[in-house]
Amino acid sequence: MILIVDDNQSNLYSLQKLLESKDFQVETAGSGEEALGKALKKDYALIILDVQMPDMDGFEVAETLADYSKTKDVPIIFLSAVNTDKKFITQGYASGAKDYVTKPVDPEILLLKVKTFYNLQEQNIAMKKTQQNLELEVKGRRESQVTMKSQIDHFHLMLESLPQIAFTLNENGIVDFVNGKWYQYSDTEQSFPKTHPDDHDIREELERCRKKGKALELEIRIKNTVSGNYRYHLLRITPVYDENRIKNWVGTFTDIDDQKKVEKEKDEFLSIASHELKTPLTSIKAYVQLLERKLKLDKESPEGGFVTKVQGQIEKLNTLITDLLDVSKIENGKLKINRKSVNLESVISNAIETILQTHDEQIRIERHGTKPDILIPLDEIRIEQVLINFLTNAIKYSPENNQVIVTTFVDEEAQEVRVNVTDFGIGIPDFKQDAVFKKFYRVEESSLQFQGMGIGLFICAEIIKQHHGNVGVSSIVGEGSTFYFTLPLN
Ligand code: ADP
Repeated sequence: MILIVDDNQSNLYSLQKLLESKDFQVETAGSGEEALGKALKKDYALIILDVQMPDMDGFEVAETLADYSKTKDVPIIFLSAVNTDKKFITQGYASGAKDYVTKPVDPEILLLKVKTFYNLQEQNIAMKKTQQNLELEVKGRRESQVTMKSQIDHFHLMLESLPQIAFTLNENGIVDFVNGKWYQYSDTEQSFPKTHPDDHDIREELERCRKKGKALELEIRIKNTVSGNYRYHLLRITPVYDENRIKNWVGTFTDIDDQKKVEKEKDEFLSIASHELKTPLTSIKAYVQLLERKLKLDKESPEGGFVTKVQGQIEKLNTLITDLLDVSKIENGKLKINRKSVNLESVISNAIETILQTHDEQIRIERHGTKPDILIPLDEIRIEQVLINFLTNAIKYSPENNQVIVTTFVDEEAQEVRVNVTDFGIGIPDFKQDAVFKKFYRVEESSLQFQGMGIGLFICAEIIKQHHGNVGVSSIVGEGSTFYFTLPLN
């Protein structure tokens, strides 16, 4: 918007028309006072100011405008008479104006100057706006930095109040915060606590997880800086993501030493108890066999039936004790696998045969898929144990259905064979499926209805792990379960 100031109405009119014809927006003022009033209220890109005006002349108006911060930078073009003394013109410049045009006005020259000033002022305004925006952004950033700092302080305070050792790592895996408890196990903020020589190295494990972008969970012994004793801790380091990028990591060491000791004592007790039980049981078994032979009882007679029942119960007890012994072997790393080249299909048929012979009820076991009539390096007794466990469970946890399907797949490409045991029984809830392979885990909903100790699948998982295969389950509650294991062909 341009403001034209002239006391002569016809001059005002002709200048206004001239500028409007070039698409400029124009306002007019008939006196210096009116011009001042308007300039203080509105933003003008340019003021065209007649020098000779009664009351307040153009120079006075320009000087007054120069005194106000709002108007001091608005460019001014003076319109002056040809014979205006040079000293008046310099006076015009001194009071902050930028140029002058002599009367009578040459429209072309005036338009040229107006355009130049107008553009300059527009650019000035745009620059000012940019500057203001920049200032606003800087202010916003400063504010969010302050908020972030207070959030971080709050977070650190929370970590400080945890009963665990807590720390954070930056995106490069460098420790950048530790709580007070850290110093019970490390002398400096940067170095991780010293781990037991037989345990994993924290840095190495962390680097592996950092490469995969995955959380780290590890049970390790770390050395107390004061007592020099190692205590078992559960180390957890979790990545914190910010829009798909790891921003930093938060870690804790939880002291599980007491829990570990209790677990060890329990394992030792189980190991001793099962060993002690095994010896008298073996004698009982032998004596019952002797008795059976000596008495030559008719199997159909009540006495013969009793002996068979006793033998059945001894067998159950024997399986229980053998399983407990297996658990303690696993704990001590002594579960040994004796691999030989064996035809897997014959192992499967043997297991099915054993199950059919030892179950009185009518059981239907179907065989599906490509039969693995191939030699695979495996421990025959242990793999049969896994199959018998899967089949026994399939029957046990299907009280309303007696059908079981054993399906096998040979995957030449992946160089592995897969064995599925499918039942149509009670099924397992989704979120409990992984846990069934854990030691002593039993699904709560069914644990009262079915007898068991929750160690069969734990042993199976360990046997398959030692064969470098995988175990797993897929299941739908009320519809049934498929337990599977895979074995590498070589
Ligand atoms: P156990 O059968 O002695 O309890 P396992 O280790 O063999 O121990 O099985 C662990 C748990 O997994 C069982 O207690 C049961 O809750 C669940 N489970 C195992 N097999 C099946 C199955 N075929 N169908 C439903 N639940 C099963």
